[in-house]
Amino acid sequence: MNSVRLKIIVTGIVQGVGFRPFVYRIAVQNGLRGYVKNKGDAGAEIIVEGDPETIRKFMNALKNQKPPLSQIYEITTMKLSGEPKYEKFMIHKSSNETELSGSTIPPDVAVCDECLKELKDAKDPRHNYFFITCTNCGPRFTTIERLPYDRENTTMREFEMCSFCRSEYVDPSRRRFHAQTIACPRCGPKAYLVNSKGELIERNDPIREAGRLLSNGKILAIKGYGGFHLAASTTKEQPLLRLREAKHRCQKPFAIMARSVAAIETFASVSEKDEVLLTSHARPIVLLNKNKAFALSDLIAPNLHNVGVMLPYTGLHYMLFDDIADVAFVMTSANPPNRPIVKDNEEALRTLSDTADFFLLHDRKIAQRCDDSVIRTHGSRMVFLRRSRGYAPAPLILRKRAKRCVLGLGGELNDTSCILLQNKAFISQHIGDVENIETKELLVEATKHLVHLTNSKIELIACDLHPKFATTHLARELADENDWQLAQVQHHYAHIAGLMLEHGVDELVGICCDGYGYGTDGQAWGGEVLVCKTETTGFKRVAHLEKQPVLGGDLATRYPLRMAAGILRNEIELEPWLMKHKQHFPHGEEEVRTILQQLSSDRSMYQTTSCGRILDAASAILGVCLERTYEGEPAMKLESLAKRGKNVLRMEPIIDGDTLQTTQLLHELIENQNKYSKPDLAKSVHSYLSKGLAQLAVEKAIENRIESIGFSGGAACNEILASAIRRTVENAGLKFLVNETIPPGDGGISFGQTVVGGFFFS
Ligand code: ZN
Ligand code: ZN
Ligand code: FE
Repeated sequence: MNSVRLKIIVTGIVQGVGFRPFVYRIAVQNGLRGYVKNKGDAGAEIIVEGDPETIRKFMNALKNQKPPLSQIYEITTMKLSGEPKYEKFMIHKSSNETELSGSTIPPDVAVCDECLKELKDAKDPRHNYFFITCTNCGPRFTTIERLPYDRENTTMREFEMCSFCRSEYVDPSRRRFHAQTIACPRCGPKAYLVNSKGELIERNDPIREAGRLLSNGKILAIKGYGGFHLAASTTKEQPLLRLREAKHRCQKPFAIMARSVAAIETFASVSEKDEVLLTSHARPIVLLNKNKAFALSDLIAPNLHNVGVMLPYTGLHYMLFDDIADVAFVMTSANPPNRPIVKDNEEALRTLSDTADFFLLHDRKIAQRCDDSVIRTHGSRMVFLRRSRGYAPAPLILRKRAKRCVLGLGGELNDTSCILLQNKAFISQHIGDVENIETKELLVEATKHLVHLTNSKIELIACDLHPKFATTHLARELADENDWQLAQVQHHYAHIAGLMLEHGVDELVGICCDGYGYGTDGQAWGGEVLVCKTETTGFKRVAHLEKQPVLGGDLATRYPLRMAAGILRNEIELEPWLMKHKQHFPHGEEEVRTILQQLSSDRSMYQTTSCGRILDAASAILGVCLERTYEGEPAMKLESLAKRGKNVLRMEPIIDGDTLQTTQLLHELIENQNKYSKPDLAKSVHSYLSKGLAQLAVEKAIENRIESIGFSGGAACNEILASAIRRTVENAGLKFLVNETIPPGDGGISFGQTVVGGFFFS
């Protein structure tokens, strides 16, 4: 029979996902010879020799039976001349440094169905093994210390494979061929239970015992893949109150882990898209609307219409539910206030023993801290609130190649860092608010790790325009130390630049709404319309919300009634109104006096165009939220109310030149407070802002002959705003773009900065 030689190049997500073993298996099954190896650009190269018919079968299998975690973007084939060279089929190892440059580090993957079946099978050697994994599942990023991704470069190094595991590891016909996290009860990590003093509680089955303790009202610290969770009952008040007190969180919602989709449906509604996300390999926390039957404690997500839910993602999590009837447990990241998620056993005992009654530990080290990801859906679209475990640090593949290798350090809140290398953007896991030494250290450490894993040779470092951010200082230091170029990128430019590259557009009118960003004029921005033409004029701020005074700086963010007072200073009789609300100011009447004094003096006040602050002020006027105890709280609670309301005020946007007025809107709220319900007024505020912003953007798009309008910034997570702006834009015959693969909030800033540094900066 005549023999054919074929070279096949596969691009996509094909490294660290069991792709080479898969190719090996289908080649051997078809009796083909040749090899498969990883390529430096994260693709795979395959040579096959054999008869045309079997090669055809092989190609079919390649396309249709690929491993669940792999994604194929493109397959190109080339016939090779010459005589067959190979005796058998082989997997070539790649270890060359340049070959590893930009290679894909796989994110953590939830335990797969096959492993779960074995976990429950009394005859299986891995029966009841909490860290059961295979090539298709298990931790990756959180265990990898160095590349290449081999066991000795991971935290599994300390667990020597037993003969049974080894036999599977070397057998190409098995699902665990080259599975770096392979382990079993004999050779793998062990789980154990200790009390708050660190004393071992001897139990045959510590994990199911932990589930029983949770069900009985105890608080447990549970070690997972990327850090610790604090876990508690979802129906008992007492542990939840204790948890709120210990975490200094009086209102901030807790995420919960539910035993199954059916269990979730007893308290929340799950759309088709929600279910896809909940059950995906990444297993993010998905924000779901509470349903009428919601019978879990109101302490979980107070005064919000939704609740963050995830499904178990390790064998350990599944086992917690085995012996009890609870539908869900609270599972909130264990971190002391403003610090990164706790990852080491001894660190956990030191920092969490006041809170947790027991600790469910295991003896595998965590290489990288990694919080859970958080997503919500707007209809069938997904919106990242936090892109972390399960996604980071898999790269975004862009349609263009950057001019240089860029590192972006992000802003201040909800920070991430990002490396842009050619056409790939590697965004780090969630770092947190970089306001203190611990989070700054995590930013440095995580970024170094990412540079190392991607083998990047940084040429430019990008940061925020704010002169006082810790990340700005850090970027300056690193630029000096390493002789890198430095680019300071305006916050809202970064939001919109990221959105543009995500969609591969060169021109965009961007609506950017959030809480705060330092403007090019040194003032506070946050409700902007930008015209962006990357080839010619760059970024131009063409419209914005009315500038409003910020009474008392950060105090106005914490106590949004201050915002309202500033906005309404010339509209209403302020003194009686403030006096009526004096109990909502920490210093009561005295504080009201000071506010009135400040407002009557001629001193020019610090001003902001922030959309977030307007929503906050509206929330305070309606009595929905008078003290902000977590980021976005007043606006989130306002959105929750507005979900059930109608636009009763029906105000036409008041546009003065390039400014959308907001004073009148808030005045109308006060005037109509007794006439309409809170949900109706809350909805009216949303309608006014979205209509006004969309109108301005459409006007600017027509004026500048631009076909697309985008919406980004933290306020783009708000479904009511996003869908209303979409309607106006699409009705005007224009295209509407939102973030799909990065967070619209500040977790996406680092990516936007690298885009400016890598594509737009000359
Ligand atoms: Zn598996
Ligand atoms: Zn073993
Ligand atoms: Fe922002």
